[in-house]
Parts: sequence; C-alpha cells; structure tokens
Amino acid sequence: MPTTFFSDFALIGENLDLKEKIYFQVSEEGLIKEISTQCPKSSDIIEFKDSLLIPGFINAHVHIGDSFAKDKGINLSLPEVVEPPDGLKHRLLKETEKETIIDGMKNGFKEMLSSGTTTFVDFREGGPEGILILKEALKDSLIRAFILGRTTPDFNTPHEILKMAHGIGLSSSNIYADNELEMIAIFCLEASKIISTHVSETEEEREIAFKKFKISDIERSIKLLNADLLVHAIYADDKDIDLISKHNTPIVICPRANGYFGVGFPPISAFLKHKILLCLGTDNVMANSPDLFREMEFLFKLFRGTNGINMLKTKDILSMVTINPAKALRLDHLTGSLAKGRYADFFILDLNSPNLIPMENVYDSIILRAKSENVIATYIKGRLAYERRYNS
Ligand SMILES: [Zn+2]
Repeated sequence: MPTTFFSDFALIGENLDLKEKIYFQVSEEGLIKEISTQCPKSSDIIEFKDSLLIPGFINAHVHIGDSFAKDKGINLSLPEVVEPPDGLKHRLLKETEKETIIDGMKNGFKEMLSSGTTTFVDFREGGPEGILILKEALKDSLIRAFILGRTTPDFNTPHEILKMAHGIGLSSSNIYADNELEMIAIFCLEASKIISTHVSETEEEREIAFKKFKISDIERSIKLLNADLLVHAIYADDKDIDLISKHNTPIVICPRANGYFGVGFPPISAFLKHKILLCLGTDNVMANSPDLFREMEFLFKLFRGTNGINMLKTKDILSMVTINPAKALRLDHLTGSLAKGRYADFFILDLNSPNLIPMENVYDSIILRAKSENVIATYIKGRLAYERRYNS
C-alpha cells in the first residue's frame, strides 16, 4: 500500500522550486511515485500543515568514527590530530573500545538525522575492520552511509575495501607512489566505485608533494588517481583550479573544520568563477558538529565577509548539500532532489517556529535562520528515520 505525504510547502525538482499544497505518493519500496497538487485516491495520508518539506541533506565529507572524541584535540595542530599513523585521532581509534566508538557513531547519526541529513559520505579509517565497525553501528539506523574505505600504501587491501564499501577515501595522495595511485584508479574504475582524497589542506602538504613528486597533490590526484571528489583544496593555485575545472572534478569544502583547525579557507570565489561543482562537508566529528544548517550559515557569512555581497546565493548553498553532492557521487537518479522515481528522502521544517517568522525568502531563511530544532521529522525512503520529541 503506497503512502501519501502532504505538505503546505515543498522544494521540488533539481531547481529546488518552492511549491504549495503538494502531495507525494510513495511506493512501498520508498520511491516517489507521483508528485501532485491533487490528493491521490485510496492511500494513507500523512499531513504536515504549516510545514516545508525539503529534500534530505547530503553531508559530503564526514569522519564519523571520531564522534566519541569530541574536542579532545582542540588545542593541537591539524597534523597532531589527524595525520596517520600517530595523530591523536588514530591513537584514540586504536586504543578505544569498539563499543565506545560505535556509541559515538550512533550519536553522530542522531545529530545528522535531527538536522535533516539523510545521507553522509564517510571517510572510514581502519581498513576493512573499520568498515565493519561502521556497518555494525548502522544496524539500528535508517541513515544512508556512503562509505569510502581506506587502503594502505602497502597495498594489501584495495580489493577487499572495494567489495565492502562505495569506494576509496585517502588521507593524502602524498604517501602513495605514482604507480600505487594509478593502480587504485584502475581498481576503482573496474569496480565502478568512487575515489576521493584530501588535498592541499595545508601548505606543508603541498610542499611535500612538490618536493617528492615535482607537482601538486591536486595534480597527482586528478592525473594519476583519477579522483571523483577532492576534499578541501584550500591552497589550490590557478594551475590547479584550471585543471580541476577542465576535468569537472567536484570539490567538497569544509569551512567550519578549516576554521577549527586554523588552516585557512579555500578560494571559493575562484571555484565559483570556474563553475566547479561544490559540495559541503563537516569533516571530523571530533572537531566539528555534523550539522549542515550551521555549516551553510557559516559558509554564507564567511564568503560575504571576504568577497562582498551578491556572488553566492543562499539557494546555491542549499544545492551544495542536495543536488551537487548527489551528482558528485553519481546518486542523482536516486536522491538529492524530490522527483518521480527518486527515493522519498526528505525532512519537515516547522514554519511556525518563532525564529522563522516572518519568512521573506525561503532559501534565505533555510540558510540563515533555520536550525535543527525546527526539524519535526526526517524520512528516508518514505520511512520515519527521526521524529522530534519536544519533551526530551
Ligand atoms: Zn577529512
């Protein structure tokens, strides 16, 4: 029996168009069968009055595994916290009980669902074992994890990782020889899986690449690794940006995490001028909450503060957590927007919230005013994944 959802307002299609009085008919498999202003016959109806139905957010870069270690490295440098194998994160992941890591992950899922995220892209440390831990944590949650596992430079694990995960996520291309990057690219191509890597998060990382390989880590990641998705690119220069643009390689920017670690901010206006597809991520949960409302507002104000007004619209930022990451992950036929044949992944925003009244422009309000407390419920494939309880 299909279920029908009704909302007074909804953001529909790839342009996130605002529509009024919309019915969504959802199949038992969780796909949107029909979007209409007419009420379909013979179907259960779940009604949301004074509400805005928004496509589920996609957080394009998370390390959910360190959720148990919130702010433990707040006064340490980025390499001291995240650099494998001896950074604080990696030491804590090795010495912490699996149950504690899993409890942390589950808290991360709840925080994401309560702030409208239905899919997250995880850079999972710990090889095959690390992926198994995440899968165990996911058993009780409907949230969709797009898992990018880590292979080691000794090159024992890529096939195993690719069987278990959606692709590969490298901490840095600098620790791999050219032929190793090329082999990872071939394995991923053969398996039709995604490759992502951190690039140019610090000036030091770039210097190492130039010293060891004579070209930037960005150039190696595009030309040798054939990366589908680059993360950070804070110190991308004009040559890198031209290359990224020519190869249509999407970039995940994580501005709040960059601020937390004090590593600078990426050249977002240059990315926009080159029409590079941008996605938003929240990065390590130990350093940054996985709440995309906070990320979107921060990005808008950071950008205005450094570039002036009128170059980056709030609706463009909303695309960075919906349409753009779905395209970057090759999931746009399934999620990232509300259209016939796609998953019924969405959340409901309470338009009666004092912080949202009066609403002048829906996109401005979502980016600048909305917060997780305004999310009434989150659905994944038409199933209730989160419901706000006001007394808890
Ligand atoms: Zn990261």
